[in-house]
Amino acid sequence: MCGIVGYVGNRECADILVDGLKRLEYRGYDSAGIAVFQNGKIKVAKSKGKLVDLEQKMESGEKPHGICGIGHTRWATHGEPSDINSHPHGNKRVTIVHNGIIENYKQIKDFLIAQGYGFESETDTETVAKLLDYYYDGNPIETISKMIDKVNGSYALGILFRDYPDTIYAVRKESPLIIGLGENENFIASDVTPILKHTRKYYLLEHDEIAIINQTGVKVCTTEGEEIEKEEHIADWDIDAAEKGGYEHFMLKEINEQPTAIRTTISPRIQNDLPYLEESGLTFEMLKNYKRLFVVACGTAMHAGLVGKYVIEKLARVEVIVDIASEFRYRNPIISEDDLVILVSQSGETADTIAALKLAKERGATTLAIVNVKGSTIAREADLVIYTHAGPEISVASTKAYSVQLSIMYLLAFELAYAKGAITEERCKELTKQLIDIPEKLSEVLVLKERCQFIASRLVNSESLLYIGRGLDYALSMEGSLKLKEISYIHSESYAAGELKHGTISLVTEDMPVVAVATQSDLLEKTISNVKEVKARGAKVSIICPEDVEIGKDVANHLIKLPKMEDILMPMLAAVPMQYIAYYTAVLKGCDVDQPRNLAKSVTVE
Ligand code: GLU
Repeated sequence: MCGIVGYVGNRECADILVDGLKRLEYRGYDSAGIAVFQNGKIKVAKSKGKLVDLEQKMESGEKPHGICGIGHTRWATHGEPSDINSHPHGNKRVTIVHNGIIENYKQIKDFLIAQGYGFESETDTETVAKLLDYYYDGNPIETISKMIDKVNGSYALGILFRDYPDTIYAVRKESPLIIGLGENENFIASDVTPILKHTRKYYLLEHDEIAIINQTGVKVCTTEGEEIEKEEHIADWDIDAAEKGGYEHFMLKEINEQPTAIRTTISPRIQNDLPYLEESGLTFEMLKNYKRLFVVACGTAMHAGLVGKYVIEKLARVEVIVDIASEFRYRNPIISEDDLVILVSQSGETADTIAALKLAKERGATTLAIVNVKGSTIAREADLVIYTHAGPEISVASTKAYSVQLSIMYLLAFELAYAKGAITEERCKELTKQLIDIPEKLSEVLVLKERCQFIASRLVNSESLLYIGRGLDYALSMEGSLKLKEISYIHSESYAAGELKHGTISLVTEDMPVVAVATQSDLLEKTISNVKEVKARGAKVSIICPEDVEIGKDVANHLIKLPKMEDILMPMLAAVPMQYIAYYTAVLKGCDVDQPRNLAKSVTVE
């Protein structure tokens, strides 16, 4: 949530900041703003709404000119999206941008009001800006250290002090921040995407380290002012990956990138035709010993865990408990040292998942991160880490990150089943071979877009719809349903097909379309019976099923037929039509597909 950038060098700062913010806009788009040193003074331009609104404002004369500044794109937590609540915040002496939540902002605000400070905004951020001003004694490091002592919560801060017009100060706790290292120019950013155009070298800032960044160099020190030697990292993401590349939306591009993303994710994890996860620290011996697995995650990542549960339990006969991270940490879960707790997160910065990870570690379980962003908090704090190689995912609605998370779940299931003796080596190889074939099969599925577009045209005027399925199809339909509602704003529920008759079928009318997922041959007849039940009550039904299944016109209004694979792997293919249906429905409704209302991609607040 919220994206932060900063630039100091010898080029026009405002342009570089705005370009950087464009790449971070997926993190929030309630408002945007920049602060730049112009003739020794801090000049601010900010606006409610998206970056284009800020750009328009700047075009009409408000653009600050200079070579050192900070910028922000906001996902509001404290105070409505408005011009006043937009970042940067502060005064003529100290100005900041902030990602995170200041938990004790009320006490700080009351304290500062008693000292004579006034406040313009409703944000928690403004209290930090004014607290820095209160402590300021001419020494930024001492000032920031005093602020750190006083403030509780999470923050990544870019700070400008008027007295140091060629320097950006930065500090973080919980919220992410990197420092980009260029030639005669340096950067700060919430992730690497804004710097890729300019440099690939960066430092990861650790909790409560203070960075002093100017054109010629970067110094990082402790709160006591002692200099810290930092390790230089090299970003390996492709610059083009953060561009739309001719597609109308990032979501459509990312749906189409799935074959490559899966191939890149699984190929380094296969050796001698078998899954090979040892590089993550997860050995065959360790897998033999786990009694139980937990998958803890939020949103789409949690849905990947649900598919994982069905696959792992079926193949390895090991119990898997899937938890929503924000529930897990407050339900006092029963975890033991024999458990493996898997944390799944695209960004690796999901606050609820980080909290769950800490709890699992406290309770002595082994923790395994499945994350996409290198060096992210979850990746660094878990005992073991498997990186997915999806590249940057910009669309707020996740597609390729989900597929690569699924592909890791499969590899894990195969290896665990083999380690536990539940399947033979030969069977493990056979399953692995089928997973290797998925990218090619997916190319056959990606061409079904017109079919999905047509189905979307039948859904677009509905107020509400149902996704139904049984077993793996039920787990998968949860993701289909979430995708649809998050970007098209049509209410959608996913339901276990057999459970409908116990209540929810009362909602079914001719105005309630139903999408049934029916890829599991052992459950097909039962699912079709449930489809007939809703059809008999007027629902228009679309069915996603393998190509060899015969379904009459009396049962389904529309069919999407997928290439045939072994049942257990079908979710990898069936995810795509659901993504397309959500995408085209949102496009037909005229929704902002890549930046749906009220959402942000990387949810770094609880
Ligand atoms: N709490 C700050 C605000 O509401 C920053 C929000 C965030 O990082 O998501 O402006």
